[in-house]
Formats: sequence, C-alpha cells, structure tokens
Amino acid sequence: MNHTLSHQQIERARKVIPGGVNSPARAFGAVGGEPVVIDRGQGAYLYDLDGNQYIDYIGSWGPQILGHRHPQVMQAISDALAKGTSFGAPCAAETEMAEFLCEAVPSLEKVRMVNSGTEATMSAIRVARGFTGRDRIIKFSGCYHGHVDSLLVQAGSGALTLGTPSSPGIPKGCTQDTLSLEYNDCQQLEETFEKFGSEIACIILEPVVGNMGTVIPDKEFLQTCRDLCTKHGTVLIFDEVMTGFRVAFGCAQSLFGITPDMTALGKIIGGGMPVGAYGGRADIMAKVSPDGPVYQAGTLSGNPVAMAAGLSTLKLLRDVNPYPHLELMGEKLAAGLTAAAQAAGIPHQLARVGSMLTLFFNQQEVKNYSISSQNDTSRFAKYFHGMLNRGIYLPCSQYEAMFISNAHTEEDLDKTIQAAQEVLKEIA
Ligand code: PMP
Repeated sequence: MNHTLSHQQIERARKVIPGGVNSPARAFGAVGGEPVVIDRGQGAYLYDLDGNQYIDYIGSWGPQILGHRHPQVMQAISDALAKGTSFGAPCAAETEMAEFLCEAVPSLEKVRMVNSGTEATMSAIRVARGFTGRDRIIKFSGCYHGHVDSLLVQAGSGALTLGTPSSPGIPKGCTQDTLSLEYNDCQQLEETFEKFGSEIACIILEPVVGNMGTVIPDKEFLQTCRDLCTKHGTVLIFDEVMTGFRVAFGCAQSLFGITPDMTALGKIIGGGMPVGAYGGRADIMAKVSPDGPVYQAGTLSGNPVAMAAGLSTLKLLRDVNPYPHLELMGEKLAAGLTAAAQAAGIPHQLARVGSMLTLFFNQQEVKNYSISSQNDTSRFAKYFHGMLNRGIYLPCSQYEAMFISNAHTEEDLDKTIQAAQEVLKEIA
C-alpha cells in the first residue's frame, strides 16, 4: 500500500501538533509506524489521503455504530446547520435529547449534556462528591474514564494503597483520594468498604471494559458494587461512554439488569459530534447548578448541531433495532478470528459483548488488568500491521476494543477473517 500523502501530512502535523495527533490513542504508539491520515468515510469504510480503502473496525472509537455518513444523520445535521451553529441559549433539541436519554437508560431521571466523555465522568464524580459530602473515590485498574486528573492513577501495589498520579502535571493531592482496585475482585472491594465505607463518595467503572481490551464483568462483581454502594450510601457510577447504546439500546445496565445511581455517556449519543452527558437519580442531580450548589457549565453544551446528529442516531437505533443483527455479526467475526488463531496455533482469548470485541494474544482468560498486562503486545503489533496492509483498520492497541457497525456486511467480515487467517499464519 502506498502511504506517501499520509506520510507527508503527518510530517507537517508533527511540526505544529504534539506527536502530529490530537489524541495519543491514534498515534500508533503501541504498534510502531505512522498513522494513516483519513480523508473520508462511507458506511463501513474509511479512505486515506492516498486513496486506500479500509474496512473500519474503530468507528471513530465507538460513535459510528450506523457506519459513516448515514443519510438520515447527514440530513439532520444539515437541517440544524441551516439554523445556525450555536446560540448559548436553550434550544428544543437538547430537551428532546434529555427526554430520549431518560426514557431509554434505566438509571436516568435527569441528565446534563456536556461535550466529551471526559467532561461527563469528571462532572459525575464532582456531583457524587457534592451529594455525599465525601472525598474518596474507587476506580478499577485498566478502566479508562478520560483524562480526568483524579482518575489518572497508577494501580496501587497493595489492596488499599492510595493512588499516585500516572502522568506528570497532576499534583499528588488530586489522586490521594482515589483508591484503585482490581476489576472483578469482590473480596478486595469488600475489604476496602470495611475500612473506608463511610468515606467513599462513589465507585466509577466501565460495566463492560473496553479500555484494557474487552473485559466482561462477572455478574457477581456488578452486584457486589451495587450492594456495597447501597449499604454505605455511596454513589454507583457506570461509565457507559463506550458501552452506552453499543452493547444494548438500554446500555450495559439494561443488559445486566443492574441500575447504577449515575451514568456517564458519550460517543454514540453524539452521532460523531463532540458530545457527552451525565445524569442519574433526580435527588442526586438536584445538586447540580443552578438547581443546587455543585458547579458545572459549558459554552457549547447542548449544541444544536451536535444534538441533531446524536438524536437522529439514537432514533435510528430505536426504530431500526440493529442489535440482533450486530449480535449475529459479532458472533460470526468472533468465531472466524478464533478459528484463524487456532489454525495458526497462536495462544489467544476472544472476548465479546455484542458488536464490541477483542482478540487477545494471551494464554489466560482476561478478567482484569493484571492478566491483560501479560498480553503479547509485540505479536499484536505484527498482527495490526499485517491487517492494515490488507485494508483492515483495527484499533492500534491490544488494549482497545474493535467495533462492528450496522453498515458492515457479511462480505466485509469474510474478507476480514480471510486476512486474519493469512496474517496469523505469517506471525505464528
Ligand atoms: N470513558 C470511557 C469508557 C471511554 O472509553 C472514554 C474514551 N475512550 C472516555 C470515558 C473519555 O471520553 P472522551 O475521549 O470523549 O473524553
């Protein structure tokens, strides 16, 4: 494949943008080489500056569940655009969005729109702290909730170690109240609540993890989170920025039948535009300014063009109901990739919930970050580049989930599986 124009563009970008990218996840840091620069998307495909076509399994890291340039979404955006781009005053679309979200997502009684997943989780934590009057929070190693200061912590070495920042630029004070525990470990969670129960404002977690590769929660684990929060007056926050409207129309909380107190959303609800949201129980959300004392704001929040993109996407998901089809497609792709890895004799695990999946190069089932950190990432790098050269665009890290959209066809999956058979044989 020829990448001359991509290369030139990245060289140019590096002079004026750190690393040439506006988010490190797209820099190919974990797999080496240079990112391809995308010119346009259509349905399940991306096209780079050099005209190469790729079957896209990133979908803008989640939002493009309908594929690129769905005609109804494009129309809704251009209709909204014709009226102006932003008013900094209430608009009807933001109320329609809030009504839609409260109807679809079990935990939402009231919701506030923001502009990214990071803003959603950051604000949810602030509100949980304001509501409980407590400072400590619990997160789980390997879960990512955006670049929020208090959540960028290293995993503690012992069960009850307090977090230390994982990035320079974060004062120790920001993470001293963050307890970082192992995902799917009920005993550690119970011990932590025994010690600190009355001081813990919230637990925040991905109800299916996407950010250490796809990691599926034990039912008992989610139930333990729910029970301990109820018992100790702690706010349970599901970060459904990735799983929201991805694993089920009612999000992971409806799939597992466990209702958190608050939910953070992003990605799909913006239909490809910069959107996030957080919400939950009405008594908790009553603390949010201007109803309550917890301050949170945004010049562009509830932006009419972004609301139009998000609402049209969500209405299509409700009306078309692609989830049974996405389940079948997920099953087919998972079976094909598993068979390809088996045939090549490569140790692997395939984790999947609906259209969200990861092929791990690991001997053990990946239940938490300790196990995920043993993935064979150098093998993944070879796999990634082999697939990219065959026109298959996978997430450029073993610690990310791949996504299927409703625009992918069986033929796309067959091509992908065929490519995986060739590549995995080559790198065995
Ligand atoms: N939470 C989760 C679960 C995510 O996957 C992400 C982004 N990948 C975020 C929060 C942060 O969202 P954003 O990048 O929109 O700030």
